[in-house]
Amino acid sequence: MKLKPPITLAWTRFTSCSGCQLMLLNCESSLAELAQVVALREFPLATSTECKDEEIDVGLVEGSITTPSELERLLALRRKVNLLVAVGACALTGGVNSLVRGERRQAMTEVYAGQADEWNTFPPQGIEHFVKVDGQIPGCPPEQGELLNSIGALLHGGWPGHQVMPVCMECRINENPCLLERDCAPCLGPITLAGCNARCPSLGVPCEGCRGVVAEANRDELRRLFITAGLTEQDIRHRLERFGEAP
Ligand code: SF4
Ligand code: SF4
Repeated sequence: MKLKPPITLAWTRFTSCSGCQLMLLNCESSLAELAQVVALREFPLATSTECKDEEIDVGLVEGSITTPSELERLLALRRKVNLLVAVGACALTGGVNSLVRGERRQAMTEVYAGQADEWNTFPPQGIEHFVKVDGQIPGCPPEQGELLNSIGALLHGGWPGHQVMPVCMECRINENPCLLERDCAPCLGPITLAGCNARCPSLGVPCEGCRGVVAEANRDELRRLFITAGLTEQDIRHRLERFGEAP
């Protein structure tokens, strides 16, 4: 569906750090041009304006769903937007918010002590658990180019092609030394979706898997490599769980 500019766009934030919004705000050289084609109805990091009952062309959603009131807001949003796009790891899989799993009760008590019961929350989940999602922009945070390309593609009635290769391929293209081979570092690049130009390994830091898992991920082989590198099963589970990947 080709949308006629200016398209109405609402950026809605749930449980998150607002880092994804910040990535768009930091596209300073493109913001004036963006304002010509996008009518922003909601963007909590920059304006207190909220869209109410108006129909919206595109809803960009940041953050995971962690409370009944967030779930109500998400359902209301789905009813009024034509295209709903999950932005960033929290909206896609729950992200780092979902790190606390079995020990959630204990963690709540440690943080909130006697007030733990006053918080009506449930384990953080990506929005696709609850509503139909029309598009995804991965990353923690997403790449600026990917945010702009996605909005541009929506304006032209399409959606940018998804990367299907793993981060390792971008490492090879950049001629980076392999941290897993060279340093036995627990790099998740072999199973993680490319698109960040191997941002972390290019700086000597193992990939944390923030962009999610490639479709044809060979988890068994990665597990074997990690065990050879000296990781325990628990280490491996914790690394795989960091961005919502089931161990
Ligand atoms: S450093 Fe990580 S991403 Fe790069 S080639 Fe090695 S395993 Fe793959
Ligand atoms: S290298 Fe891995 S952790 Fe770093 S930005 Fe890319 S996908 Fe995310």
